[in-house]
Amino acid sequence: MKFKNSFYGFLTALVIVLATNYLLTANANTPIAQVPNNPKFAIPVECKLDKDCFILLYSDRDPSPKAVDFGCGRQTYDGHKGTDFAISDEKIMAKGVAVQAVAPGKVLRVRDGIPDRRVKNQADQDAVKNIECGNGMVIDHGNSWETQYCHLRNGSVVVKPGTVVKAGTQLGMVGESGLASFPHVHLSIQYQGEIVDPFVGANAKSGCNTARNSIWQQPLSYKPTGLIRGGFADAAPTMDDLWSGKFYDTVLPGNSAALIFWVQVYGVLPGDKEHYQLFAPNGDRVIDNKKEIKSAKKTWMGYVGKRNNSQSLAKGKWRGEYSLTRGNKVLVNVSKEVQLN
Ligand SMILES: [Zn+2]
Repeated sequence: MKFKNSFYGFLTALVIVLATNYLLTANANTPIAQVPNNPKFAIPVECKLDKDCFILLYSDRDPSPKAVDFGCGRQTYDGHKGTDFAISDEKIMAKGVAVQAVAPGKVLRVRDGIPDRRVKNQADQDAVKNIECGNGMVIDHGNSWETQYCHLRNGSVVVKPGTVVKAGTQLGMVGESGLASFPHVHLSIQYQGEIVDPFVGANAKSGCNTARNSIWQQPLSYKPTGLIRGGFADAAPTMDDLWSGKFYDTVLPGNSAALIFWVQVYGVLPGDKEHYQLFAPNGDRVIDNKKEIKSAKKTWMGYVGKRNNSQSLAKGKWRGEYSLTRGNKVLVNVSKEVQLN
């Protein structure tokens, strides 16, 4: 088409320049750094793995109603389509642990405003129907790769659709919104619309005896059993107490009703041997308790303790020791102290 005069031509050119500038500032046309077809992904949480955070559940690699994780273990459930990076409890969650993008890309969708509430029963589960992911986002990494992040803390999401991110850009905070029974972020990875278990890579066969072409940036070992937390309490703890972040005390009053040494562990199997020991301030071992795990549990809590009838327990520094052994391999080893004043 030929313009009637140069003025219209100038106007058209100006409109195109303005439109281009507008699109650039709106980010809609900003090219994103595409991840290659064989990408590497960082972990989605700003924490030291196996110290401040841990992988509690893996992807389910069994297409049947059974479930198996990539290491042929039980740290998954039927239909679980991601990797769960957990933190120990709601106290740490309240302090704030950042969720971060695993690779460069552009945010496609976000959701926020769903309350953090641990699902404990059917009513809780019904309350999050259709919002199972809770607060989170989907990121497009180019070349048909997408990641989804779920269960972020209410009000913590700091990106919008169109936000361009790098690996490590903060997206929000770890929470427990949606269908979550402990504070964690669920990371789900897709390639060409298919779920990818990052420990085995794209186009892997189902089951657990497959080639492992990990797409993690750092080598991540398979650790299906480990410590969540351990400590002392003045009463028998419940699993709910521990997830809520109770019993961080390192000092307890001398008139406490009892002195309880507890541990919270993930991934126990039948036949695992537990050893609980409690040492009085004078060094005497007052409890030496060996137990065997009877059934597999994804999360487990155990404790030993003494009643403090008419303040029968000596004041001073008490020490608890715990180990979990499978065959001749020590999988968990904890030592904790508390001051009884
Ligand atoms: Zn999950």
